[in-house]
Amino acid sequence: MNARIGVTVLGSTGSIGVSTLDVLGRHADRFRVVALTAHRDVEGLFQQCLRHEPDYAVMVDLDAAERLRDRLRSAGRPVETLAGAAGLERVATVPEAAYVMAAIVGAAGLLPTLAAARAGKRVLLANKEALVMAGPLFMAAAREHDAELLPIDSEHNAVFQCLPPDRAIKGLDAAGVRRILLTGSGGPFRATPLAQLTDVTPDQACAHPNWRMGRKISVDSATMMNKGLEVIEAHWLFAAPPERIEVVVHPQSVIHSMVEYEDGSVLAQLGNPDMRTPIAHALAWPGRLMSGSVFLDFARLGPLEFHAPDLARFPGLRLAFATLATGGTAPTILNAANEVAVQAFLDRRIRFTAIAAVVEWTLERVSPRGVDTLATILADDALARAVAGEWIAARASEGR
Ligand code: NAD
Ligand code: MG
Repeated sequence: MNARIGVTVLGSTGSIGVSTLDVLGRHADRFRVVALTAHRDVEGLFQQCLRHEPDYAVMVDLDAAERLRDRLRSAGRPVETLAGAAGLERVATVPEAAYVMAAIVGAAGLLPTLAAARAGKRVLLANKEALVMAGPLFMAAAREHDAELLPIDSEHNAVFQCLPPDRAIKGLDAAGVRRILLTGSGGPFRATPLAQLTDVTPDQACAHPNWRMGRKISVDSATMMNKGLEVIEAHWLFAAPPERIEVVVHPQSVIHSMVEYEDGSVLAQLGNPDMRTPIAHALAWPGRLMSGSVFLDFARLGPLEFHAPDLARFPGLRLAFATLATGGTAPTILNAANEVAVQAFLDRRIRFTAIAAVVEWTLERVSPRGVDTLATILADDALARAVAGEWIAARASEGR
C-alpha cells in the first residue's frame, strides 16, 4: 500500500515550483508527485518528468503539449500528457493528489486554484493574484468544501505561524490580535532618487536584493504593488479589516511578518529569505520538515532596520489599500491593470513609473461591481485589461 501523500504542482517550472520540487525531493518517503504543469517550457517540464516521475504532465500551450508528449513517448516514460486550461483543472482535482501547490503566476492561476479548493484539497497558495481577484468567492469555496488553505507567500505564512494554532478561533478579535504587520524589503529602488525611476530597465527592476523570483513578482516588488496585493491577500486570508493591516519596510528580509496582540506582545517569524521554508511548513503543517534552507546565524546577522513605507515612491501600495476601501471587484480591476502594465514594462513598451499610472487610470474608468459570481469577476478582469491596454497603446508610442 502506498501511504505517501500525492502532490500536484501547478506552475512547476517557475521559481516557487522548482523550490517545491526541491523540498518534495528531500522527502520522497512522505510525498509523491502526481502532476506537474507549465505554460510552454517543454524542455523544463520534460526534465522534471524524468526526475519526479509524475502520473500527469500538463502544458497549457497546445503545440508544446504535443512536443512534450512525443518526447516522453520516445523516452519510454508513461506520463499522461494533457493540454490547455482543462488539463490544469483536471490535475488540480484528481483524487490521487491530496495537496495542490498553486504556483502559477497571475490570473491564469485562478481557475485551477479555485477548482482545487472546490475539490477540498490542501491548497498551498502562492498564486496571490487568484485571491486578490476573487477573494470572497475563493474563501467561500474553501470553507464550503473543507479545503485547507495554507499560505506560501512568506509574509502570510509568517502571520499564519504567529497566530494561535487553534483553528477554531475565528477572527482577529477572538484571538486578541490588534494588528497584522506585513514586512517588505522595499525592493531594489527603495533608496533610488525618484527622478531616476523613470529610466530603470526591466533587468534592474528584476534584480531584487534578497529574493530570486519570477519576473512578474520581481517587478511588483520593485513598485511595492506586491505588498499592496499582499495587503489584499491578508485581508481575505485572516479576515482582517484594512485598518488593522500595516506595512513595515524591513530591508533585510529576515523578519517575514509579525502579529501584534492586545497585551503589547508582538510575535514575529524569522528566517533566511528562502521560499523552501514556507513551502516545507505548508507541506508538513501542523508538523515540521527539513526544507534545505540555511539556518539563521544571529552572530552574523547585523542590524535589522524598520521604516514606514513611502507612498509617494510606491503609489501601488496606496492604490491597493484604496481598492479594499471601495470593495467589490475593485481589487480585481487593480490586479488586471497591474498584470497588463507589468507585462508592457517587461516588453519595454512603457516606463517603470507608468505602471502605477496605468493602474490608477484603469481604476478611474472601470466601475467596480459587487462580487457575486465568477462570471462577474472574469468580466471585470477582461474589461480592466482592455482599458489598461488602451492607455498603453495610446502612450507607448510617445515613450511614456
Ligand atoms: P514564475 O514566473 O517563476 O513561474 C510561473 C509558473 O507559472 C511557471 O511554471 C509557468 O510555466 C507558469 N505559467 C505562466 N503563465 C502561465 C499561464 N498563462 N498558464 C499556466 N501556467 C502559466 O513565477 P514565481 O515567481 O514562481 O511565482 C508564482 C506565484 O507565486 C506568483 O503568483 C507569485 O506572486 C507567487 N509568489 C512567488 C514568490 C517567489 O519567491 N517566487 C514568493 C511569494 C509568492
Ligand atoms: Mg511575499
